[in-house]
Amino acid sequence: MSESIIRIAQEKKYLEIRTVNFRSYADDKHKTTDDRPFGGGPGMVLKVEPIVKAVEEIKKEFPQAKCIALSPQGQPFQQAQAVEWKQEEDIILLCGRYEGFDERIFDILKPIEVSIGDYVLTGGEIPAMVIIESITRLIPGVLGCEESFKEDSFADGLLDHPQYTRPPEFRGLAVPEVLLSGDHQKIKDWRRDKSLEKTKLKRQDLFDKQRESNE
Ligand code: SAH
Repeated sequence: MSESIIRIAQEKKYLEIRTVNFRSYADDKHKTTDDRPFGGGPGMVLKVEPIVKAVEEIKKEFPQAKCIALSPQGQPFQQAQAVEWKQEEDIILLCGRYEGFDERIFDILKPIEVSIGDYVLTGGEIPAMVIIESITRLIPGVLGCEESFKEDSFADGLLDHPQYTRPPEFRGLAVPEVLLSGDHQKIKDWRRDKSLEKTKLKRQDLFDKQRESNE
């Protein structure tokens, strides 16, 4: 959180990140936040009391905060959500550990459950960073180049077009001539065609969705 875009966003006051340790909300002397699963089985489960308490305390200060729980069982995180959540003033990102959360945490706090993909990590911290970064780079002023995210993959439901920079030729591979032509309309059309072509080739699912939404 202290590198690159996220660091700059914090320095410029576009973003403030506070971390809260569930342990601070555990009542016993060992500050226990996990316990063995009822019914047996391996690993530990995050306890309901400290987490509910932590979120309720945070909500006193930020009553409107959107509560998001990182979980491999959540809906897959998508660019559209980053765009939507950019509008939020305050977001609580609940990071799990061990075998995950006591299920009652979901019943009580009713967070939006979000997954960053069909694989299992050790904790929710890296998924939380993924979400923070994807939202932060959309905040106007954060990226050096204001327009750049508008052309990224997914912004218009398609993958980004191919990009080239100097040299114009390397190992016999030349940059497509149209990009050197200076003809803006032609370049725009070429990029759109390539964007469609790439999406169809690499992500048929996105391509079909795009076609449906155009029908
Ligand atoms: N036993 C759980 C996984 C626990 S992994 C299960 O199978 O559903 C421990 C924690 O890591 C989770 O509570 C969650 O906060 C985080 N985590 C792991 N993989 C994740 C993913 N793909 N997306 C979002 N969070 C994830």
